[in-house]
Amino acid sequence: MNVHEFQGKSVLKAYNVDIQEGFVAETPDQAVMVARQLKELFGSDFCVVKAQIHAGGRGKGGGVKLAKSAEEAGQLAQKMLGMQLVTPQTGPEGKKVKRVLIAQDVYYKGQTEPKEFYISMLLDRNTGKYIFMYSPDGGMSIEEVAERTPERIFTETIDPSSGLQPFQARNIAFNLGLTGEAWKSMQRFLPAVYEAFMGCDAQLLEINPVLKTSDDRIIAVDCKLVLDDNALYRHPDLAAMRDVDEEDPVEVEAGSHNLNFVKLDGNVGCMVNGAGLAMATMDIIKLSGGAPANFLDVGGGANPKTVEAGFRIILKDPAVKAILINIFGGIVRCDRVANGVVEAYKSIGSISVPVIVRLQGTNAEEAKLIIDNSGLEVFSAISFRDAADLVRKVLN
Ligand code: GDP
Ligand code: MN
Repeated sequence: MNVHEFQGKSVLKAYNVDIQEGFVAETPDQAVMVARQLKELFGSDFCVVKAQIHAGGRGKGGGVKLAKSAEEAGQLAQKMLGMQLVTPQTGPEGKKVKRVLIAQDVYYKGQTEPKEFYISMLLDRNTGKYIFMYSPDGGMSIEEVAERTPERIFTETIDPSSGLQPFQARNIAFNLGLTGEAWKSMQRFLPAVYEAFMGCDAQLLEINPVLKTSDDRIIAVDCKLVLDDNALYRHPDLAAMRDVDEEDPVEVEAGSHNLNFVKLDGNVGCMVNGAGLAMATMDIIKLSGGAPANFLDVGGGANPKTVEAGFRIILKDPAVKAILINIFGGIVRCDRVANGVVEAYKSIGSISVPVIVRLQGTNAEEAKLIIDNSGLEVFSAISFRDAADLVRKVLN
């Protein structure tokens, strides 16, 4: 699960990671109030207005703007709130801005220039260890750094059984070119980041930029935090940060029916029980000349309700030219699923694309009879190959 920048920063702060402070606003008036509050707290007229959407690259798209007064912050918020913000990560339709974060300006000039770094922490599934990935070239897109100057990206592998070691934090500070107070600040910053990541069962924590301020503080200016869905039950406070408006509406609906759905861009909708069978089904669709329009695992307990919900979700995609239902009756009996298909078919009314049903396993023969005798325009198959041939036939 993704969370917004302001939410990620609140998590960091709870773990004593220094952050660019700020408060969210949902109206221009609130933005002005927050900007005045920040002035009282930090003494500067300047602040930044940052659009809160689940996508990076906001700066490039006009979603991060510096305001020189509270009034200007209000005007900028007015412009940003409600707009469809397009960034290199949103796709051309953009994302609607419902909130802005009004944050302190931390790029003030002093004895030294502020400097931007990139620091992220993630799980390396190959080694079963954590990685700090970091670069002295922060602020810009890390993908560009990786392409142009890969030698400017460093990694430090952390064994979860021993945690981040002091020598590793020193390594990182050294490679980032830090000295003096900034070096010391980084030695406090990194363990706090590590604790935050571990404490909230994160999958990815990306802070770009991490800023060395002109007075040698190290602070998180941005925060992308991805939490592990499987661990959310341990964190009701974090689970409450979910913003369904940011998620694909069809996937949200599928989730509410306990269906495991991923949208793909092919023309054959599929409904399958079990992830392994779903993968094999997508393969056979490819072999028959089609392309899967989705991955849909209805789970072990397929019943008329889930089948109907699956149908409705698949039919929302106008690219779907055929539907292949592939169910293995192990615990669930095929005749029950067949009745479910017939019922769902009737309750939806008209299904405008050909439907191929392959039921195999317990009571498969009875199920085929139910489908064949239903009077519905449904093609039934028992072998996997027959199902693929039918897909080929209806697509041509
Ligand atoms: P992103 O573009 O979505 O990654 O948003 P960021 O939070 O990383 O901000 C983008 C850029 O805005 C940063 O790299 C900075 O250059 C700029 N920025 C962010 N905060 C401040 C600030 O407090 N003052 C100034 N002057 N610029 C800022
Ligand atoms: Mn950023």
